[in-house]
Amino acid sequence: MPRTGGPRSSRRKLYAGVVDSVLLYGAPIWSSATETRAYLRQAESIHRRACLRIISGRPHLSYEATYILASIPPLALLADERARLFHRSRDDAGRGDERQETLRRWQVQWDQSTKGRWTHRLIPDIKEWVERRHGEMSYHLTQLLTGHGYFRHHSQRYDNNASARCPVCPDETENVEHVFFHCSRFEPEREVLQAQIGERTEPENIVRLMLRDRSNWNAVSNFAKTFRWLLSARRSFGLFREQSTPGIAIQH
Ligand SMILES: [Zn+2]
Repeated sequence: MPRTGGPRSSRRKLYAGVVDSVLLYGAPIWSSATETRAYLRQAESIHRRACLRIISGRPHLSYEATYILASIPPLALLADERARLFHRSRDDAGRGDERQETLRRWQVQWDQSTKGRWTHRLIPDIKEWVERRHGEMSYHLTQLLTGHGYFRHHSQRYDNNASARCPVCPDETENVEHVFFHCSRFEPEREVLQAQIGERTEPENIVRLMLRDRSNWNAVSNFAKTFRWLLSARRSFGLFREQSTPGIAIQH
């Protein structure tokens, strides 16, 4: 399945649900045994690949951020949930209660983890995120929400000779926060976005604004796509040069 284009993320999520069912077949019976934890560790990599497809993410994303963006709890939590449901009377209310308990446990893990901290800053509240009624994930949104992508700071991880500095803003590192929220190169596009959603965007409010309504979500998603394209095109065509002194005119 391609990372960009192809089925929408909600459709991909249905495929992941099938993977969950296959992987967790028999979970109520075996989820408490020690050997089943070893099984879960193996099954987790398959589960994670299915989640990565939902968000069009690359394999180096942390497990923790991948599950959050896909809105699917980690496999071990799903296995525990199935075991709890198995031991409850078969009522639909119980299903809802147990899912809420899973979300609560997942939230504790998410708050305590050291991984995916940029994503945690943007999405501190799991329940609000996974229970949203709109919002398809995309390759470009995943880049914004994980910080992994076409940013110099990120590229430098794989090329020690590469500079992480923003080519136009003195002493600034070109990372996702700088590019999306502060960099002067994208001020016109940022102003259009902020006019569309009626509020100044910050890491602490961007997801809340996206969750407010579908048009906000689409505006941010389009901006993520646009700035990725602009970053790539301007770099490819050499439209930016390293700035040695502040105040050099910036081409947009
Ligand atoms: Zn900059």
